[in-house]
Amino acid sequence: MSDTTGAAEPAGIATALAEVRREIAASAASAERAPGDVTLVAVSKTQPVASLKAALATGQRVFGENRVQEAAAKWPELRADHPGLELHLIGPLQTNKVKEAVALFDVIETVDRPKLAAALATELARAPKHLRCYIEINTGAEPQKAGVDPADLETLLALCRNDYKLPVTGLMCIPPQDEDPALHFALLADLARRHQLSEISMGMSGDFPLAIRFGATHVRVGTAIFGTRLVSAL
Ligand SMILES: *Cc1c(COP(=O)(O)O)cnc(C)c1O
Repeated sequence: MSDTTGAAEPAGIATALAEVRREIAASAASAERAPGDVTLVAVSKTQPVASLKAALATGQRVFGENRVQEAAAKWPELRADHPGLELHLIGPLQTNKVKEAVALFDVIETVDRPKLAAALATELARAPKHLRCYIEINTGAEPQKAGVDPADLETLLALCRNDYKLPVTGLMCIPPQDEDPALHFALLADLARRHQLSEISMGMSGDFPLAIRFGATHVRVGTAIFGTRLVSAL
């Protein structure tokens, strides 16, 4: 299934995708949720176009990328041939890349500060498009990490909703590496419920079944589908 670099071959990608989808369905069932409640975001950062095509050939249509520049190089051509594609930006967004990001992506998962919210609102007013935003929460309150502090969510959300009319529909988190993700998943799900946000993006290759148990509506899975990345991008 994998060659010596760790990157999966096309046949391996189809097999791995089927296995991840099976695990999603099983986790949803054991949490008494409908399998359709959980969307698989295939994280294709650093993966070559051949790998993206292998995933597209299986019917996968929702993908996550963490860099605007990389997505711009890989996706516009593929999108033309694959209607129904939904691209999620899951990496940090600088305000000077907002225009390009809005043109490329369908969901911006990493809104985490007023300046970025303002820039997104300005761009959407200039070039209207159906796009959804999630607010990224720094659930572990890690100093160096992206995401808004849970205590500041209410203020940022009010700003997005009332002042900027941004279409915020969900929350996203990346739990600290050295902690039990369960606490972070529970916190994110609770914040989403309290603020009436229907989309909850949490869970990666190592912990997506657990995230589904805690209410994830979107799981972001990379290496379990595509194999190890040649370049570390997180
Ligand atoms: C890379 C990345 C993922 C996927 O991680 P895997 O462990 O490869 O599944 C999920 N979310 C974010 C924000 C990422 O950057």
